[in-house]
Amino acid sequence: MSQGPLSAKLFAAAKQYIPGGVNSPVRAFRGVGGDPFFVRRAKGSRIWDVDGKDLIDYVGTWGPAILGHAPVCVIEAIHSAAKDGVSFGIPNPYEVEMAKLVCEWVPSVEKVRLCNSGTEATMSCVRLARGFTGRDRIVKFDGCYHGHVDALLVAAGSGALTNGKPDSAGIPASYAELTTVLPYNDVAALEELFDQRGHEIAAIIVESYPANAGLILPQPGYLQALRDITKKHGSLLIFDEVMTGFRLAKGGVQELEGLIPDLTAMGKVIGGGLPVGAFGGRADIMDMLAPDGPVYQAGTLSGNPLAMAAGLAQLREMEKQNGYAHLEQLGQIMEDAVLDALKATGRNYQWYRKGSMFCLFFTETPVHNLTDAKTSDIPAFRKFFHACLDDGVYIAPSQYETGFISLAHSPDDIARTAEVMAKALRGL
Ligand SMILES: *Cc1c(COP(=O)(O)O)cnc(C)c1O
Repeated sequence: MSQGPLSAKLFAAAKQYIPGGVNSPVRAFRGVGGDPFFVRRAKGSRIWDVDGKDLIDYVGTWGPAILGHAPVCVIEAIHSAAKDGVSFGIPNPYEVEMAKLVCEWVPSVEKVRLCNSGTEATMSCVRLARGFTGRDRIVKFDGCYHGHVDALLVAAGSGALTNGKPDSAGIPASYAELTTVLPYNDVAALEELFDQRGHEIAAIIVESYPANAGLILPQPGYLQALRDITKKHGSLLIFDEVMTGFRLAKGGVQELEGLIPDLTAMGKVIGGGLPVGAFGGRADIMDMLAPDGPVYQAGTLSGNPLAMAAGLAQLREMEKQNGYAHLEQLGQIMEDAVLDALKATGRNYQWYRKGSMFCLFFTETPVHNLTDAKTSDIPAFRKFFHACLDDGVYIAPSQYETGFISLAHSPDDIARTAEVMAKALRGL
């Protein structure tokens, strides 16, 4: 049972006042069946639900909690900033510190604008790319999620090169038609599209490592192909590093892969758990933004002092603790343990990991794109999820999500997790 009596009571009330009882759909547990629990408190690698059950958490508030939950440095930074006021709508020193840090850490970023969510960041990148190039068409990839932006909530049409169709009610077909959706990791489809319509394309937007359909890694040379083809056709390359930025390295995937996109969307870890997004890139493109340029973009709470202080504290602590190297070690411990468990149970499920991000696909087919990911045995995943939850390990309530290890996860936590997962696999 995922839900104790207090969670059940809260969920009943939530459903009365909030659509579906949740403020973001994946939280409703529709991917695994059953009803969600409510959290009372979180600290380090642990969360406690309102009924008093504690869990080792690998969701980490969907990525931001890279130091673990409620790290002292972040809580103190928020307290200290709050004493001087929680929002001004006037420039404040924290924004400048944050912008400087982003420009220093992220290889492609010469200038950056702060906003309040990853969705705002990708939406603004799309508008900016269109404004800069004077072109309308956007290319995205099947299975990449970029927040709930109209232009990016688009599904593939019937053929790879046909225009996209809305992936949500409320998005005009005429609007979705300006987005082309390609299969990921398919250079031939990419080349065919650019041969035909390269001159129309404002930008490619791609999750630098797609992590919203499970975790999918680029084939060798694929990201370079995106860079080369956009350069050749005068289109921009937008890396959506909302998930991977500040998670895999100080400079995200672009640092790991040695690639320089034109624009980068950021979010999640950069806010230390508070609502923050950011987008940045080449100075000549960023200077197209208002007030200097004609592309409008704004935000009442953008650069909020609490959010900036929280994010700065988290990022500096990561640097101080040499956090990325440490997370790689923890990730390796997890990987070895899970692979052992798979072997012991005779399951040939596909495991993918980069640093502290991981995904176990319940399929024996290697996963290079969304179509491969969809070969997963969802009933088996659901059973596995609930078995883990019953035994005190919380992974994302959907096959199509990525797990996150934090610096607060101890080797003991990971060993315990591997035992629980092995038992859950044996029970399938
Ligand atoms: C989470 C996410 C977003 C959206 O960010 P929000 O803060 O939820 O709006 C965009 N892109 C990627 C890759 C994400 O993982």
